[in-house]
Amino acid sequence: MNAIIRNTAKTGTNYTQFESGSLKSWIENSVEIPGLGKVAGKLFLKEQMNLNSCEISINALPPGEGMPFHHTHKQNEEIYLFLNGTGQVQIDDEVLEVREGSIVKITPNGVRTWRNNGSEMLVYLVIQMKDNSLIQWGLEDAEVPEKEVVWPE
Ligand code: ZN
Repeated sequence: MNAIIRNTAKTGTNYTQFESGSLKSWIENSVEIPGLGKVAGKLFLKEQMNLNSCEISINALPPGEGMPFHHTHKQNEEIYLFLNGTGQVQIDDEVLEVREGSIVKITPNGVRTWRNNGSEMLVYLVIQMKDNSLIQWGLEDAEVPEKEVVWPE
């Protein structure tokens, strides 16, 4: 029997590892959103992983489906990172074509909605973080401790 490891988290002193399962399995997730009811194919990771500087959702949207509303944000920018399929993102009446590998950043005031107009599952991440909150980044934020790289046998 194959063990399916999915939606489980392991926490250590300085990490949390979450198993979201295969991209194909993401459609089995759902969240209850007040006012909208059950939304299929979406899972928020903040609670699952105790994130404290961003919210990430993992998403799967079947062919022919789309968000039935527009939304904006109060203070967070969002990054949509498309991993599979093809679709369209509408921002302030402008329509962007997206596909595997497309990454779209939307500032808080952008009025947005999106749909899957392709024939495959549209699979994507949404990363949400406070607009203008980044103070340092990349190597500027990195430190290199004096520790030899050794892997256990
Ligand atoms: Zn949003």
